Amino acid sequence: MRVCNLSSGSDGNLTYVECEKTRILIDDGLSSKETIKRLCLLGISPVDINAILITHEHTDHIKGIDNLCSRYNIPVYVHKDGLIPLKSKLIKNINIIPFDDFDFEIGDIGIQSFAIPHDVKRCSGYNLYENNKKISILTDLGHTTNEIIKNLAGSTLVYLEANHDVNLLMNNPKYPYSLKKRILSNWGHLSNESSAEVIYQLLQNGTKQVVLSHLSKENNSPNIAYEQVVTYLHKKDVIEGVHIKIDVATTNPGAIFKL
Ligand SMILES: [Zn+2]
Ligand SMILES: [Zn+2]
Repeated sequence: MRVCNLSSGSDGNLTYVECEKTRILIDDGLSSKETIKRLCLLGISPVDINAILITHEHTDHIKGIDNLCSRYNIPVYVHKDGLIPLKSKLIKNINIIPFDDFDFEIGDIGIQSFAIPHDVKRCSGYNLYENNKKISILTDLGHTTNEIIKNLAGSTLVYLEANHDVNLLMNNPKYPYSLKKRILSNWGHLSNESSAEVIYQLLQNGTKQVVLSHLSKENNSPNIAYEQVVTYLHKKDVIEGVHIKIDVATTNPGAIFKL
């Protein structure tokens, strides 16, 4: 399995995952032109992409779908509860395949989706499997539950939201109170501190690598997110680089992970 985040955050989310026979994207929140450019960095052409999995219909996750999927006839998979909201955002006639709560496969990638709390009808977290290897992608969630943590058990690599520093958000004069309330709510986005708490739990369940994802441009930075998470873990006697590896996904293409 080879995984690479090609863009993360409110300007656009795009993650590439490949197994031996199958290549998929999780979300396509960049323009189709930019998506093609970034896939090219990996030596991948859009004709090589077998499917795109959608987490939810916010623009930062679907911006490129219309043009890319209509032009290259790439099927789009979305949970059935997110089908109508997704369709209402798309203009072009593309092949959308709804899935339900059962696990399914695309080529040799096993896929398990689960609901995560965000301000849409359905936001999906994903576990992706190749044989006994498991990775997870979990962004755009206001809080976690025991059930979500249980779903992530045994996932070696987790892309986990670390959206904001609560103080920076609260003191940001550009954000109206209503927007702050939305982000901080149980259906908004995960703070650095909440993310650190989740990572500590994941560590007990076999996670070796976390990539902090979907960072706010305004209320966070790669350094702040990394420092806050590492400091929290350190207080619990967890040393970054020894017990767990922490990376940060940005708006630029990130590291390629091979499992
Ligand atoms: Zn969202
Ligand atoms: Zn988002």
